[in-house]
Amino acid sequence: MPLAPLFAAVDIGGTKIAGALVDGDGRLRHRLQLPTPATAPGTAVLAVVHQVLDRLSATPDWAAVTAVGIGSAGPVDLAGGTVSPVNIPGWRDFPLVAEVAGHPAVAARALPTRALPVRLAGDGVAMAAAEHWQGAARGAANALCLVVSTGVGAGLVLDGAVRPGPSGNAGHLGHITVELDGEPCPCGSRGCLEGLASGTAIARRALTEGWRPDGDDRTARAVAASAAAGDRVALASFDRAAQALAAGIAATAALVDLDRVVIGGGVATAGSVLFTPLAHHLERYAALSYIRGLDVRRAELGTDAGLIGAAALCR
Ligand SMILES: [Zn+2]
Repeated sequence: MPLAPLFAAVDIGGTKIAGALVDGDGRLRHRLQLPTPATAPGTAVLAVVHQVLDRLSATPDWAAVTAVGIGSAGPVDLAGGTVSPVNIPGWRDFPLVAEVAGHPAVAARALPTRALPVRLAGDGVAMAAAEHWQGAARGAANALCLVVSTGVGAGLVLDGAVRPGPSGNAGHLGHITVELDGEPCPCGSRGCLEGLASGTAIARRALTEGWRPDGDDRTARAVAASAAAGDRVALASFDRAAQALAAGIAATAALVDLDRVVIGGGVATAGSVLFTPLAHHLERYAALSYIRGLDVRRAELGTDAGLIGAAALCR
């Protein structure tokens, strides 16, 4: 009996590089992850990607793999098969697709002897592909899927399909300007959504405004706990993040006529501390008849969305 086809998935971020084999229902097998040596030379980062592929290709299930999908921190360049992740400085225009295609187990499997196709997308696009395939965007024809964590990434589903755009970065909402004369952003622009709504921004703003953590944790997670306990400064920082997100979401909805918005990432685990002010600000910004009452949902796939999305790219 022929083996049911599997996809090999690799999810590359600034803190970890994860891999798994994914079946036709989005279930993971042989999941593993290794720390990203983010500040090391590019060859050292590639060596970790190859270690992940070494381990996956050592499993008997590898024989059923029909394609390799990669979701990577961006920006990515689909045409060139290259990536330049902001937080992996050793990779600039790094030929990731060619390097993965050159891994011995990908270049030529024993049976049958042929190379596996390699697909690439930015992590926001991969998350959108995952949530559209198996998560909270399932069944939506037009959806915006956001990851709000250390940064803010996003991807778009339009007319029933994930739209990576020619470069693979379409829908990258984190770097649209929501504050006209806002702070300079590392991307080169200013007032970017990411600079107001990311976990990093939430924690920085809370600390600047006088919030003091109970313990050593000075991250957005600790700000969320304070906000849930009623701390006014912590609440205000989440409110500002929610306001920025609402402006970006309303703009996207006006632009492409969305019927669903899905929000995941570590900051979204704050729950009502984020989603209650978000609903309030969306009421103010999403005022046109066709974007009123947007269907906003929490992501369903958690930290495995990157892997499931990398596999979804191969379908
Ligand atoms: Zn920016």
